[in-house]
Order: sequence, then C-alpha cells, then structure tokens
Amino acid sequence: MKKTKNLFSYVIAICLSLLLFTNCTRDNTSIIDDTTAAPQKKELKKKSANEKNDRLEKIQYFKAKMEAGEDVSEELLTYLNENKNPLSEIATDYDYFTDLVLGVINPDEYYCDNTDIPLSNYVNSTISEWTFLDYLYWLFFGYYPQIDAVYFKEVNDRNASYGVNGEYTRILQRTFRGLKRFWDINSSDIGMVPMKGTTYADIDRVTEIEMALYPWQTEEESREWAELWYEVFGSDAFWNFNHPLLSFNAFALSTTDPFVGDRIVMGDGIMEGYAAIGLGDVAPQAILAHEFGHHIQFENGYFEEVAPEDQPNATRRTELMADAYSAYYLTHRRGASMRWSEVEQFLDVFFNIGDCGFSSGGHHGTHNQRMAAAKWGYELSHNAPRNGYVMSSHEFYLAFEEALDSIINCETCLN
Ligand SMILES: [Zn+2]
Repeated sequence: MKKTKNLFSYVIAICLSLLLFTNCTRDNTSIIDDTTAAPQKKELKKKSANEKNDRLEKIQYFKAKMEAGEDVSEELLTYLNENKNPLSEIATDYDYFTDLVLGVINPDEYYCDNTDIPLSNYVNSTISEWTFLDYLYWLFFGYYPQIDAVYFKEVNDRNASYGVNGEYTRILQRTFRGLKRFWDINSSDIGMVPMKGTTYADIDRVTEIEMALYPWQTEEESREWAELWYEVFGSDAFWNFNHPLLSFNAFALSTTDPFVGDRIVMGDGIMEGYAAIGLGDVAPQAILAHEFGHHIQFENGYFEEVAPEDQPNATRRTELMADAYSAYYLTHRRGASMRWSEVEQFLDVFFNIGDCGFSSGGHHGTHNQRMAAAKWGYELSHNAPRNGYVMSSHEFYLAFEEALDSIINCETCLN
C-alpha cells in the first residue's frame, strides 16, 4: 500500500504539472492525416493491430507487479510512452511522456515550490480512495472524453452544456463571444466544445469511439468494451462518470481536417477543480481566454519550430504569452472588465497551474512566472493611458516579447 501511495504522489505530481495541465498545443502542425480521398469523420489515428489483445492484460500485468511490491513507475511510463493517447498527435502538449528532454532551462535558477498548491491538493483528495486498478483504468482508458470532444462533438452546439450541472454554459458562451469581438484575428471558424466524463455513460457513442480506435473489432466487440467502460467509469470510484480527472483539461486545437476544425475544448473537471478551491467565478473565463490566446498564436504564426532541447523554453514562452493575453482581456473594460477582487482571483488561477517540469517540452512556467505573466497583462490593460483602446493582437505580442525576460525573472521567480 505504501508503494501505491508513493506512485500516486509521483504520478500525480507529474500529471498535475505536465499531463493534465498541459492544455493547449505548441505548434500548428496538423498531424491528422490529410489523405487525398474525401476525409471521413472519425478518421483518427488507429491503434496498431498488435495492441489487440494487449489491453486489459497489460492492466493486470502492472497490477500484479504492484501487488508484489515492485516499483513499476518507470515501466509504466515506458508503456504509456509507446501507447499514447492518439490525441497526442494533434494536441501536442499531450505528448508529455516523450517530451522529457535535456532542457536548456536550468532548474536551479528558478524558484519553484510544488507543495501545498490548492488545486493539486484538491486532485489528490479526489483520488485518495482509488485502488491501483482504478488508477490504471484512468491512466490507460480515461481519455475517451477527449476523443469525444475532438472528433465527435459538434462545435457551437446550441444544446451544449458546460460544467457538471451546466452551471458554466452561459458565462462561457458569453466570454467566447466577447473574446471573438475583442481580438482582431479572424475567429469566425473557431468553435467551442465541452468535455465530459459522462461520455462513458453513452454506450453507443463509446462503441463508435472503440470502432474508430480499433477498426479490426466487430461492432459487437466494440460494444462489449463500451459496456465495460460504462461499468468502470460509472462506479463510485469514478463518481458515476463525473470524476473530475475524466475531463481535467482544456486545450486549443488547430487543424486542417474540415471535420474537426479549429476548436477549444473545455473540460468540466478542471472547472470543477477550480470551483472546489474557491475560484469558480473566474477560472472558466480565464482558462477560455488563455486557450483563445493560443488561437491568436496559431493565426498570427507565433509558434516556433525549435530543436527538442529548446522546447521547454519555447513552450514556456507561448504559454506565458497565452496567460498574458487572457489577463489583458479579463481586465480590459471592453473585455470582461473584471473588478480588482476578481483580478486577484484570476492571478491565483494562473498561479495554481504552474509547474516545475523544467526539462519537459510541456513546461508552462512556474507558479510565480504564470502569475507574473497574468499580472503583466493586467497592468498593461489597467495602466493604459487610453482607456478604451484595445491593442491589436500583434501589438500585444510585440510588447510581450519585450517583457518576457522580466516576467521570467520576476522578483519571486528567481531562486
Ligand atoms: Zn496553454
């Protein structure tokens, strides 16, 4: 049991810093196959045939090892590395497990304390009763809601609901409209979709996902799997489909696949997490505005192709920039026009999703750096001499590039 706990804290630590929160993409390479034939919906990357019998057996294999007291963390990472969520190919931040590189960021240079972060504490509390098996189910098969959100959900569905009880539907739709008006990019083709753990409650839908992922399966076999996932994720351990970790993410996607299109995916789980730590009034808007910032980067071409070892630096740059875009919008009187009490909250939102993964290609910036980026965006808007003036997205970008060094090396950012 002790080992289990250790692994949990280990994996949750990396998940929190890198996997779950590595929302957003970092380059706009569309990796969805652009075949010459008419593209078909659900043409997502197939699992290879040799994985056919590998699914539950692998879970049992790791479980047995774990129970025998072995430390499986490394082998587990290797396995996940080789059997990635197919989305990792289009939403590149998902690629954490292959992203461990010898980064050029010197960890000793920056202050980073991952202990006692409210959002991490919340996540840990939600899994404190999990068995190792629950954990493996989540790790191996917990990503279907993401696939559903990217490949199956229609964007801008009038009946879409955001938040476990639909509580964020109106504010997100309003914020999305506001962002489109506020920023000068062509955003008419960007859609928004929810991501929900209750995907697993829809056996027909999960059968379709199964058939798309494992095309050699018969429909009947696919349905059997869907029924198994219904049982697994409908259990108490997974809060009857509503466990926040089934949708603990938000990300931006830019693709040439006409059936997917540009979109922002908003997970119920991450909003639930923020609500649990008292930031529910501003977090959904702040996250959405951050993802919108990534679409500005796609549209204006701010992502840079870099050598793998430079990736941590490059990702940190685009992530902090997205934080700043968000804060500028949230503060601006022609944007969300937030009061100081709300500004304090959104600074906290960004603080909570910082990470210490300095050597990872998914490094988003430390807690203090993310807060500093948001504060910079806030000040730019708040202290503007011309009150109603909205900077162009490119003007903002140029100002950010100039400020980046001071943000990264902010007073509380350095060791
Ligand atoms: Zn991001």
